[in-house]
Amino acid sequence: MNIFSHILGFPRIGSMRELKISQEKYWNNEINKKKLFEEGKKILKKNWHIQKSKGLDFISIGDFCWYDHVLQTSMMIGNIPERHKNINNRTIDIDTLFKVARGSSSIGDSSDASEMTKWFNTNYHYIVPEFKKNSFFKFSWNQIIEEVDYAINLGFKRIKVILLGPISYLWLGKKVDNNNFSRLELLDKILPIYKYILSELRNRNVDYVQIDEPILVLDLKKKWLNSFIYSYNFLYNENNKILLTTYFGNISHNINTIKNIPVSGIHIDCVSEKYNIKDIEKKIPEDWILSLGVINGRNIWKSNLKKIYKKINCIIKNNIKRKIFLGSSCSLIHVPVDFDLEKNLKKKFSNIFSFAVQKCEELSLLTKCLNNSDINLLNKIIIYDNKVKINTKFNLNIKKKCLYRTSSYDKRYIKQKDNLKLPILPITTIGSFPQTEILRKIRLNFKNKKIDNVTYDNAIKKYIKNVILEQEKLGIDVLVHGEPERNDMVEYFGENLEGFVFTEFGWVQSYGSRCVKPPIIISDVYRKKPITLRWIKYAKSKTNKLVKGMLTGPITILLWSFCREDISKNIISKQIAISLRDEVKDLEKLGIKIIQIDEPAIREGLPLRKKFKKEYLSWAVDAFKLSSSVVKDETQIHTHMCYSEFSDIIDAIIKLDADVITIESSKSSFKILKFFEKNKYPNSIGPGIYDIHNPNIPSKRDLEINIKKCIKKINIKNLWINPDCGLKTRTWKETKLSLKNMVLSVKNIRNKLLKK
Ligand code: GLN
Ligand code: ZN
Repeated sequence: MNIFSHILGFPRIGSMRELKISQEKYWNNEINKKKLFEEGKKILKKNWHIQKSKGLDFISIGDFCWYDHVLQTSMMIGNIPERHKNINNRTIDIDTLFKVARGSSSIGDSSDASEMTKWFNTNYHYIVPEFKKNSFFKFSWNQIIEEVDYAINLGFKRIKVILLGPISYLWLGKKVDNNNFSRLELLDKILPIYKYILSELRNRNVDYVQIDEPILVLDLKKKWLNSFIYSYNFLYNENNKILLTTYFGNISHNINTIKNIPVSGIHIDCVSEKYNIKDIEKKIPEDWILSLGVINGRNIWKSNLKKIYKKINCIIKNNIKRKIFLGSSCSLIHVPVDFDLEKNLKKKFSNIFSFAVQKCEELSLLTKCLNNSDINLLNKIIIYDNKVKINTKFNLNIKKKCLYRTSSYDKRYIKQKDNLKLPILPITTIGSFPQTEILRKIRLNFKNKKIDNVTYDNAIKKYIKNVILEQEKLGIDVLVHGEPERNDMVEYFGENLEGFVFTEFGWVQSYGSRCVKPPIIISDVYRKKPITLRWIKYAKSKTNKLVKGMLTGPITILLWSFCREDISKNIISKQIAISLRDEVKDLEKLGIKIIQIDEPAIREGLPLRKKFKKEYLSWAVDAFKLSSSVVKDETQIHTHMCYSEFSDIIDAIIKLDADVITIESSKSSFKILKFFEKNKYPNSIGPGIYDIHNPNIPSKRDLEINIKKCIKKINIKNLWINPDCGLKTRTWKETKLSLKNMVLSVKNIRNKLLKK
């Protein structure tokens, strides 16, 4: 018995989103603090019990948190911005935690929330730590120790504690003052707190401490890399067994440093990138544990355990002395909790899926088989690529010319000007309008067959008619239908394309209490019938103004779904793109002169390491072009992007060759425009001129100032005016007032221009 099983973290949301429900109740003052903590303890206990009963060798503690694990680390070391601390005594508690994340607490006081951003290349978002040159740190949040005591009291024995490592923590944060300093200068103030926690864990005899340092997979500057040796030397104590944990990529390029860090072992992610495990194995110290992340923590398929068995058997045959751990490739927070709840999928596809609970089972089964040198138990496992066949030759003969518009942008510009007859500074919105409770209910009732087609159609049409009317009243130039038929921009297309299946409870945490239910791409994707046509046709029939067709782009559909692993993402993206291309063609035939293809996720898919970026961007850009370039010169293609920093993919954005890009920019005070200017972006741009996530109504004055800022950077002939994202999360009242001000400020500027 020299092989042990563990996971890098279990989903904290609960199989029925218990965490979300209790947090939201607490925020609405429906339950008190005591009840909130009780709910948390229930989830903890259940998660540990699952790990133990499924047969894992260690249970993991430290993966649970109230909003986000990076924020929890900030709490632990007392790195809380002054504006969030309790007013009377500058202390911090659970309300402070929520205040950092949400900008307000249930007590009612408010101040700007901390920034939230994507956790590496995932769709999980963390709260960005804020640092100042004179930041002060103090052990301030005892949760991790309390949880260990709780587990010990419950009788759990083999315990592994998870901490986010100090260097990755610093790397994930940002400087917020104007002083010239490096975040690494703060290490000396943070390390003693980690040292203290490690001593407390020693006192409690925990078996291992998993310290996550995911930045070790990145291209790191020397000073960051070197800080590892320094820090872990400081933290070293022979009675702490530290498992240094890496994921989301390979660490081979940093191995010469890593092997000198004084820890007890290393975890590597064997799924996200190819590994030469033997090579790593040779390089690390002989007495180190090697933890192999062999079960994919970011996808929902059963693993081919036989294949993994053979691979690992090969490795351990040669060096039986080393202790081997088998684990998930990364934390399981990126997959839903329990496939057993999915009665419908189960009926149709038996057991080809594996969510967090099943991944624990897989790990312990694999470990057991390897320890007994017995592969027989693995013979019966069914894996999806045997069960759901695909057509490997499926339409991949894409001709180069399918990727290009007929003419260059300047020629198209003239033809479109003629075709569309728009005023200067044309005004539009991004697509969705407020989604009311009634609308959600109608969609749900229709889905559950509680209302018939006619009732549903009439309700959707009524909404569209009203949205068109409101936009006409407001004086918007290019109208949208408002997307009332869509629950979610990806789910909707998944439901209407072939090749997708859906879970009932497959929730994954996106941030805080917000969860998403990604569709699953199970076979070839293709379009059997038009998707958006009838709604757009209806909207068009209600106005003489231009109506935009509205589609979700191929990369966003791909990245916000779980997809097969035996077909490359490139190929799947092309299958989706071809389906969308047909939809685009049909919209054009219908007389739609402007078609928007949203790609908010395109930046998120960017690989973490430089050497892989080019390849990704190349196929991602091609997929977009394949979906969009089928139209005539006269037809205008828009795209929309948000949720990310786009400056480092500006070249790819240029290559998309969309006639107009509407892009989130007001939150970063239009910094992105500098890059468009520098790169002489020839096509048109609609920089979102106000932040739709902010409930305050933008004033005419502020909007005019923003528009003027844009005019300075972009040729006015190429400038569009719009909000920075869809309006579905806002109320009608907020939406009408904001858009009214937006239109008035444009009219004001147009008038001034006329007088010149
Ligand atoms: N068209 C979508 C909407 O307006 C775009 C959403 C997004 O960018 N995330 O809702
Ligand atoms: Zn958006």
